[in-house]
Amino acid sequence: MILVLLGPPGAGKGTQAQRLTAERGLVQLSTGDMLRAAVKAGSPLGQRAKAVMDAGELVSDDIVNGLIGERLDVPADHPGFILDGYPRTRAQAEALDAMLGAKGLHVDKVVELVVDEDALVDRITGRFTCANCGEGYHNRYKLPKVADTCDVCGSHDFKRRIDDNEATVRTRMAEYRAKTAPILPYYDAKHIVARVDGMASMAVVGAAIDAVLPG
Ligand code: AMP
Repeated sequence: MILVLLGPPGAGKGTQAQRLTAERGLVQLSTGDMLRAAVKAGSPLGQRAKAVMDAGELVSDDIVNGLIGERLDVPADHPGFILDGYPRTRAQAEALDAMLGAKGLHVDKVVELVVDEDALVDRITGRFTCANCGEGYHNRYKLPKVADTCDVCGSHDFKRRIDDNEATVRTRMAEYRAKTAPILPYYDAKHIVARVDGMASMAVVGAAIDAVLPG
């Protein structure tokens, strides 16, 4: 199965992708995670992408198409992918179809997480993760049970994304509205889009996604 998760920053794409990975064995492909890893490693690609990402704008289609293309080589028994944060432009959506088509594959389902943007700013600017295991937390909605200690792995090390500040979040949302939301008609024409209320609890959103996925 090849599933695309669409929705503005903070809509819960990463959280749902991680859950589907754990429950269904699907492989999460997050271009944001790949780009952050490249920035951290200081690779030439990371150096090119960093300023654009810090500003909340989109990196070039060529870069992200290349990142995804490198990872689409899969054996026949592969369980499938969840694309999280990709495609983000019409050109990326078309490139994805071409890359999949060359392997006899296609996007099976697009899930759009429908959310309220003002609530998202609050969601995003409060979030942080364990620097060791990646468990997600929030200043108001999910603090560690013991102060400064990860519930999962006990680490005392936490981190926040540089681009999770209000000004950058607003830019990222504007980018979503201008460049990513217009992809929806492309997928609507293929009758593969399901819309899910992303403002509900994590469990309710998860159940709504499961209800629209095959198997
Ligand atoms: P994300 O973690 O998905 O919110 O992505 C973080 C940042 O990485 C975005 O604000 C963009 O600067 C960049 N990025 C991630 N995925 C893409 C993509 N598919 N196209 C262009 N830029 C991307």
